[in-house]
Amino acid sequence: MHKHDAATEVLTQAIVRYAVDRVRLDPPPLDGPRTIGELRAMAGHTITERGIGGLEALRVFGDVLAQACISVDHPRFLSFVPAAPTEASILFDLVVGASSIFGGSWMEGGGAVFAENEALRYLADLAGLPAGAGGVFVTGGTAGNLSALVAARYRWRQRAEGRHDRTRGLIIASKGAHSSVTSAGQAMDADVVKADADHQGRLRVDALQKLVKDLSRSDRERVFAVVATSGTTNAGVIDPLDGAADVADELGVWFHIDGAYGGAGLAAPSIRARYDGVERADSLIIDPHKWLFAPFDCCALIYRDPLLAREAHTQHAEYLDVLHAVDEDWNPSDFAYHLTRRARGLPFWFSLATHGTVAYRDAIEHTLSVAHAAARLVDDANHLELIMEPELSVVLFRRSGWGPEQYKAWSDKLLADGVGFLVPTAWAGEMVLRICVVNPLTTLDDIRLIIDSLL
Ligand SMILES: *Cc1c(COP(=O)(O)O)cnc(C)c1O
Repeated sequence: MHKHDAATEVLTQAIVRYAVDRVRLDPPPLDGPRTIGELRAMAGHTITERGIGGLEALRVFGDVLAQACISVDHPRFLSFVPAAPTEASILFDLVVGASSIFGGSWMEGGGAVFAENEALRYLADLAGLPAGAGGVFVTGGTAGNLSALVAARYRWRQRAEGRHDRTRGLIIASKGAHSSVTSAGQAMDADVVKADADHQGRLRVDALQKLVKDLSRSDRERVFAVVATSGTTNAGVIDPLDGAADVADELGVWFHIDGAYGGAGLAAPSIRARYDGVERADSLIIDPHKWLFAPFDCCALIYRDPLLAREAHTQHAEYLDVLHAVDEDWNPSDFAYHLTRRARGLPFWFSLATHGTVAYRDAIEHTLSVAHAAARLVDDANHLELIMEPELSVVLFRRSGWGPEQYKAWSDKLLADGVGFLVPTAWAGEMVLRICVVNPLTTLDDIRLIIDSLL
């Protein structure tokens, strides 16, 4: 299995050809889900005593399994937050896989870690974070939020010098915060309270101040972090970061910004001012697998004070301590809740190095302009109502006169016909439609096709 012989050479060629052909498809087929029963019948039993052979396994993947996965990079995949990895990033992902790099320590993966840190620095500079800022690429925003909040709680407890070692902590977020913040609170056994948001889902600073004022004295002592979102996943609005930072400052607690989706907008000069206050974050996350054209899975987690985060997260064990012998070594394992890790920031780094930051700026601006033009098309269509002007690249709208059944039937048909993937969302208790544009290949004609199909 481990020797390269004639058979593995044939397989190598087939696999590389498959990957390259997939990258070149423009657009890729949308594909769609199948039931377990269907897949069982079509794929047969693949795990056998003697193996089915690589070429057959690749055939089953290409002919059956891959077709039961929706292509997230299709230009009319407009649900959730799609992905649009560059060709350079996807192909380099193959190289990362082939290179057997342990991305957890400097001793083992220093070269990879160096490059990942360059990419993190690009993001930290966009945010205006100080030279000492740094962190690590983790799997996604969920892991990033959890790890940041664990560091926040660590600092709170450390400052309390033992008084809060057994106190249940409290996180203040907003009603527009992502579900993963609640999930982090559950995993940490910490409470999450949410300040009211405005009618677009943006944190209200006055509501945040009132929430703090109304906390009992003992509850106020339990607060260890204020979380703001830039921007929200459902509507793409950016919380007032400066105002939220002021509240965190007054409380003397950690300020975390969840920019998993919208943080990429920092690279777009046309909207950069909306992020004022981002430079005050104690921690910030941005998912390059969302709007920075990297393949799954990749979240940049950046701390203002990474050494403190390192204290919070470093695992100690007899067999690991050799890795900590050199203090200035940057061991990515030490900056989040994980140990072994893929150098998952490398595809992003490679693409950024290949194309340069101007190409990133332009690509993000382009998606913004398509989303804003899409809002105009929606606004002009008699059968549709725009719910709000997009601040980022999410467009929320309703089809006049439709209820859940019509939305679902339309959405199912759109996918079944291979036209697009657009599922409804909920807005203020109502089922509505939501488009999220992160793919530079999504055109206004794509949007027109969707709009016409809603007639
Ligand atoms: C997507 C998202 C998350 C979760 O990120 P994953 O990478 O899916 O774990 C967290 N916060 C926000 C604002 C998001 O948009």
